[in-house]
Amino acid sequence: MGHAKVDLLITFDDNVIAMLQSALGLQNRGGILGVLSVRTYASTHEADVVVIGSGPGGYVAAIKAAQLGFKTISVEKEPTLGGTCLNVGCIPSKALLNNSHYYHMVHSGDLASRGVVTSGLQLDLEKLMGEKSKAVKSLTGGIAQLFKKNKIDVVRGHGSITGPNEVSVETASGTETIKTTNILIASGSEVTPFPGIEIDEERIVSSTGALALKEVPQKMVVIGAGVIGLELGSVWSRLGAEVIAVDFLDVIGGVGMDGEVAKSFQKILTKQGLQFKLGYKVTGASRSGNSVTVNVEKKDGTGQEEITADVVLVSVGRRPYTTNLGLESVGIVKDDKGRIPVNGQFQTIIPSIYAIGDVIHGPMLAHKAEDEGIICVEGMKGGHVHIDYNCVPSVVYTHPEVAWVGKSEETLKAEGVEYKVGKFPFMANSRAKTNNDTDGFVKVLADKATDRILGTHLIGPAAGELVNEAVLAMEYGASAEDVARVCHAHPTCSEALREANLAAYFGKPINF
Ligand SMILES: Cc1cc2nc3c(=O)[nH]c(=O)nc-3n(C[C@H](O)[C@H](O)[C@H](O)COP(=O)(O)OP(=O)(O)OC[C@H]3O[C@@H](n4cnc5c(N)ncnc54)[C@H](O)[C@@H]3O)c2cc1C
Repeated sequence: MGHAKVDLLITFDDNVIAMLQSALGLQNRGGILGVLSVRTYASTHEADVVVIGSGPGGYVAAIKAAQLGFKTISVEKEPTLGGTCLNVGCIPSKALLNNSHYYHMVHSGDLASRGVVTSGLQLDLEKLMGEKSKAVKSLTGGIAQLFKKNKIDVVRGHGSITGPNEVSVETASGTETIKTTNILIASGSEVTPFPGIEIDEERIVSSTGALALKEVPQKMVVIGAGVIGLELGSVWSRLGAEVIAVDFLDVIGGVGMDGEVAKSFQKILTKQGLQFKLGYKVTGASRSGNSVTVNVEKKDGTGQEEITADVVLVSVGRRPYTTNLGLESVGIVKDDKGRIPVNGQFQTIIPSIYAIGDVIHGPMLAHKAEDEGIICVEGMKGGHVHIDYNCVPSVVYTHPEVAWVGKSEETLKAEGVEYKVGKFPFMANSRAKTNNDTDGFVKVLADKATDRILGTHLIGPAAGELVNEAVLAMEYGASAEDVARVCHAHPTCSEALREANLAAYFGKPINF
């Protein structure tokens, strides 16, 4: 932080500085740097944009801001950049999902059924975890490189807003103050605690602990059958644990997943060995030595049961993180869900203070945070700010993957929208059949009168990649016929998406 590092001397004029330098025998090394070195108790920086938090929202926003010519400073309290996503979220979970899938392919006999016969299968969990850590290290290090390339300074420590144009950071060597034109809050989210259940990250774990277990549990209870619970439940089930997911709701997958897809998903996961207790609420969990007892009962209060497991994963959601952010100092009041209210430009009630990502409204997803980060800083530069949350895709990275964009059938019904449905099973897709990976289907929902695509829901191979074609189509206001008339490479799973669109607009696909 050599440059822009000034402190109380900034109020002295040049003559005084020159006198001080001469008196102290310092050479003129580009102004007052020589004098600054004698005082280290505090320092002040100046910036155009200070971004608090370096998760996918914050780091992408910082890079975009620097690219647009803003002098940008990133404030991060953790030792590595990248936030939840890179350190304890998207990236480590996908590393474990990918490699546990390989293990499961051998263990379940899937690979042998394809003529690839192996013997002496062993799980080296330490190595598997090592591969995860390698991915995290390389990607978080990559952000540091990108920051360097874009000349973004990082101030390490907890940042607090101390005025509409000021951020103070508690660093290891004292408080640093940054004067800035704009402040962008990208402080993200944290695990939502379960009332009465204490997380020790050993036996009663959050997603963070579940990404770093030292041995495969024999039995694991997952509280919450949403996306994170299902992904991490799948990992440990594939590696040999008996996994029981308990959820208050009667369906799995959480908010936004189409009901028909959710039912099919549950069947497939059940076939893979996961067990579900839906319509049950957890009333408590307590650890005794190396085991945990979880108390559950049906929603109506009957059917009380005790389940004993060696690990319990609490995954009931995430909540915005604003601890010691100093919102009160500038009069920003959070909404009833603890989020920071912002307008269409991502400005809080203080025009120079913006917020994006998990800490504001909308789905808690990395790509949503990134997109907001980019358009938010473009807006600071006078650009047009627009995001269509209906076109933000969701993906569950199990096998098969589940992905969707736009409205579900349930939502369209509730909104009274007239729609038509086009479906195509992967069982009839040549690539999926060739790969013996045929679980699932594509479902396209289009407006009955105009044929405009309203939602696309996929469960099947590479659904998380295929959904992006549906997102592009929806962003451009495409009809089902538009997608159905686009030439798709053969043999690919994307042909199933084309066929589902054909079924939606014409009523009949070709290959089914
Ligand atoms: C297990 C798991 C798996 C996930 N998988 C996916 C996935 O596959 N795809 C997906 O899209 N999303 C996934 N998510 C969600 C995703 O991680 C978040 O939506 C995303 O990280 C939000 O980005 P963000 O920039 O808003 O905040 P975060 O990533 O939470 O980053 C916030 C950063 O701000 C820092 N910070 C906070 N307050 C301060 C302060 N006062 N001073 C300094 N620094 C501060 C924090 O240390 C952190 O580094 C997953 C989450 C979890 C937990």
